[in-house]
Amino acid sequence: MATYRFKIGDFDCISMDDDPTVRDALPSFPNAPPDEFEAALRAYNLEPGAVPFSMNILLVKTPEHRVLIDTGMGADRNYTLLTNLKSEGIEPGDVDVIFITHGHGDHFGGIADKDGALLFPNARFLMWKGEWEYWTSEATLSTFDESRAAGIRRNLLPLKDKIELIDKEGEFVPGISAVPAWGHTPYHTAIMVTSNGQRLLHIVDAFHQPYQAEHPEWSHRGDSNREIAEATRRSILKRAADEKLLVMAYHIPNPGLGYVTEKDGVWTWLRY
Ligand SMILES: [Zn+2]
Repeated sequence: MATYRFKIGDFDCISMDDDPTVRDALPSFPNAPPDEFEAALRAYNLEPGAVPFSMNILLVKTPEHRVLIDTGMGADRNYTLLTNLKSEGIEPGDVDVIFITHGHGDHFGGIADKDGALLFPNARFLMWKGEWEYWTSEATLSTFDESRAAGIRRNLLPLKDKIELIDKEGEFVPGISAVPAWGHTPYHTAIMVTSNGQRLLHIVDAFHQPYQAEHPEWSHRGDSNREIAEATRRSILKRAADEKLLVMAYHIPNPGLGYVTEKDGVWTWLRY
């Protein structure tokens, strides 16, 4: 399994791929015209029928904390995250903060085991308030098929009495902030890591593939609101280019790190 270590200032970071796969990409971008889509992929040397896709879980070690951003697929992938953490010398009990960026199963699936027991016994859990309320409401759950609803009941509902819900941008541990990035889901949240003058903007699922830099209008089929998701992508791409930020994306091939450049009004993803 791919894991990649890097530093942001004084913080040690690890990007751990929970589920590397190769996919036919076009069906995932329903509003992309097929001929333009193929040309956009070729510009990144990608084969449209075989695009690498990762699930990059970020661990940040600060002087005081072991912080996980999302938990991957859990039982559905035989708890790859736990294996990856162990190979880095980290036991589940060492993780003391877990931020869940949004209510999709590939991000929260590793919170609990198959029987609903929490896998990280010492962790505080955090999530954006509106995101938690949307995904855990009976009104939402009643619209899902059994397995999707079961994933939420097994992983999120056991946190009901302990989850810390936030509703404004800001630090939740020193040097790590929640940043609104709505659209992929109602209150999908990005993460900014700052230490000793260096910054990492983890955009999670605000975009899924590098060619969305040139085409922020192409929405992933998982985007719950395409207009808001596109506006978020544009503002993130502009900010990343203007501020020369190191960017991380959950589904871009591991480690999912890169920079955004802008030329004549067109953004491009530059692999780190
Ligand atoms: Zn995702």
